[in-house]
Amino acid sequence: MALGLTSEHLELAAAVRGWAQRHSPAQAVRAAADSEDRGAGRYRCELAPSLASQGLLGLHVPEAEGGQGYGLAELAVAIEELGRALVPGAFLPTVLSCAILTEAGLSGPAAKLIAGLADGSRIGAVCLAAGLAGEPGPDGGLTVTGDAGPVLAGSMADIIVAAVRTGGRAIWVALDAADLQVTGLDSLDLTRPLARLHADRVAVPAERMLTGLADSTVASLAGIMFGAEACGIADWAVHTAAQYAKLRHQFGRPIGQFQAVKHRCALMLTQAEQAAAAVWDAARTAPGGDREFAASVAAAVALDAAVDVANGCIQTLGGIGYTWEHDAHLYYRRAMSLRALLGPSAYWREQVARLALAGASQSVQVELPAGDAEFRAQVRAELAEIAALSSEERAHRLAAGGWVAPHLPRPWGRDAGPLEQLVIDAQLRAAGIRVPNLYIGAWVVPALIQYGTPEQQERFLLPTLRGDYLWCQLFSEPGAGSDLAGLTTRAERVAGGWRLNGQKIWTSLAREASWAICIARTDPAVPRHGGISYFLVDMRADGVSVSPLREITGDAMFNQVFLDDVFVPDDCLVGGVNGGWRVARTTLANERVSLSQSWAFGSGVPELLQVAGAADEVPLADVGRCVCEGRAIDLLGVRVTLKRISGTDPGATGSVRKLLGMRIAQQISELCLAMSGGSGATAASYGQPVGADGKPNGGHWARQVLLTRALTIGGGTTDIQLNIIGERMLGLPRDPDPPTA
Ligand SMILES: Cc1cc2nc3c(=O)[nH]c(=O)nc-3n(C[C@H](O)[C@H](O)[C@H](O)COP(=O)(O)OP(=O)(O)OC[C@H]3O[C@@H](n4cnc5c(N)ncnc54)[C@H](O)[C@@H]3O)c2cc1C
Repeated sequence: MALGLTSEHLELAAAVRGWAQRHSPAQAVRAAADSEDRGAGRYRCELAPSLASQGLLGLHVPEAEGGQGYGLAELAVAIEELGRALVPGAFLPTVLSCAILTEAGLSGPAAKLIAGLADGSRIGAVCLAAGLAGEPGPDGGLTVTGDAGPVLAGSMADIIVAAVRTGGRAIWVALDAADLQVTGLDSLDLTRPLARLHADRVAVPAERMLTGLADSTVASLAGIMFGAEACGIADWAVHTAAQYAKLRHQFGRPIGQFQAVKHRCALMLTQAEQAAAAVWDAARTAPGGDREFAASVAAAVALDAAVDVANGCIQTLGGIGYTWEHDAHLYYRRAMSLRALLGPSAYWREQVARLALAGASQSVQVELPAGDAEFRAQVRAELAEIAALSSEERAHRLAAGGWVAPHLPRPWGRDAGPLEQLVIDAQLRAAGIRVPNLYIGAWVVPALIQYGTPEQQERFLLPTLRGDYLWCQLFSEPGAGSDLAGLTTRAERVAGGWRLNGQKIWTSLAREASWAICIARTDPAVPRHGGISYFLVDMRADGVSVSPLREITGDAMFNQVFLDDVFVPDDCLVGGVNGGWRVARTTLANERVSLSQSWAFGSGVPELLQVAGAADEVPLADVGRCVCEGRAIDLLGVRVTLKRISGTDPGATGSVRKLLGMRIAQQISELCLAMSGGSGATAASYGQPVGADGKPNGGHWARQVLLTRALTIGGGTTDIQLNIIGERMLGLPRDPDPPTA
């Protein structure tokens, strides 16, 4: 998913992509890389005027100052697209310098600098490295001396924004490059020059001093804009790798069918998606404390993503990727150069941790499109009535009114679209109403709506939505886990129904459940998926016996279930004889969605911060990494919702979220255990994240570490998720079918 979500952003991205294809195709990028000046001359003469005429250099500049009057979000979309095309020259440094000057609120004659940068008549650069020092000059200005760099596109620039240390603090200034000695450096990024600055008592007038500008503002803007370019690089690299993996054959197969390659590409995609979510969030956040946090997350996530994914692309391309001729190294070089200039990712992760521990808001804000006020009022009124009922009546009304799962079709749900779902969700919370947790019922209900008979729907749906029926899922068997089609539980025809015999395993909630969904083989002669049927089994029926199975925590949440001549009547067969596989697939798909929405099974970022606040030693960069990942997962969810609201297809981002959610919950518990010191060796037990002594509760975290191992196994293992992402999101070839017996 690219940065932009709205149709306006998608149109802008398409227009910028079209511009890049016309003005800076791959041959032009190559020519810049092969040229002495790294494409600087062509940028100044051709690309900058053309970018300016398209309004791209001043996208984020207020109209009064000669710009287009959009915001950082639009600029980030443009930067991403130009990064994807690896456009040579000084677009990024120019718009960054321009944004800094705009936020500094330059006035008087100096304000003309902004207009010059926006209309392409001047090129800007920003020195992110320290080294310049100043002393008070005449008329309130500064006299600047020192060396600083490297500066991206410094040798091309007319205006260079830099920090000058004076009187124990840093003041940002806008320097004329002509007043400095600018020495070109050999650039790792072959498509953009680099320079070092030397200032020898350069006089900076007061009007060029950006006195109100905080370091954090510059850092945030740089993090967002470098991050946006990093997203373009990462996206190019994922798709280049995936494309190649579909075409390149080795050992008689496309290499994308080998899981080592497929999973690498899928992981690359997840990293690129996280980067896009983080940068999108930072670019849409208004200046202030929240933006500093969001921008630090973006910088920590996106720059690493670009480097790692470009590296993965080279690895996937093999020998070709290592050649000078392939463009992969040009992207890799740019990614590494961006990260080197912005500062190490560990610094950004630590910054994220510091801000989070200091109370930076963790909640992801979504600005909903103005909805139908009448609809909100109507929902509020109906829910107010329900809130006043007794708990039993309330459960009835919630189920009968379709409030439990409003996205489902009526009468089971409310046919609510994405925006209506959000409104209902908000109003339920406002009314203090908790809808019942259906557990496995949450994925039984959609399967019955799609495949159940009217009688089955009548009999099971309302009681399930009311929370009267607790379900369990009799799918896995000792010999059939990921590959469910290998199951051996048999269902044989008898008068009025079926007799089931077999063993199920790892069944959650089997002792508590009143009903089960069960898949069994009804035709052994038909291979694999073909001969399977889907049954609803009464857990109190004769022949059903449940024996608890102890887990690694010592608890016994899941079970073995033995089916011994269990009679299941015909009216409990769903989806027809031998038609069970598609019903099971629907069930499993809904299970993945459900689990991706409740990734914090175990512990989340708030508990992590609580523990970090109590620990003697805090590995800040590791804490920051988890905070970043947790936030990226939340943002992915929000972006899926917003895409649905805007009517565009979110793709399979839910699978990415499920994969990342499983990982982060494990990582958080591992990190908290590490911060617990010696108490982590105490018996794994239930408890609070921080003990009564104010120290991290090692026993609790040991238990959480054990408990969260389940996340990467149940509901589809990590490897199975990576297969789904690789195949459904990147179009890589499916694993070969197993040989038929
Ligand atoms: C806490 C918990 C609750 C559960 N609850 C239920 C439940 O209520 N009902 C139910 O039916 N089941 C339940 N399960 C079972 C769960 O669905 C299975 O454990 C899971 O599908 C994996 O199957 P398996 O254990 O047989 O492992 P296997 O499929 O044997 O996998 C073993 C290893 O091989 C890898 N592997 C397998 N196939 C592939 C492949 N094609 N490509 C790459 N790698 C592969 C896996 O990733 C894994 O690392 C639960 C499991 C847990 C941990």
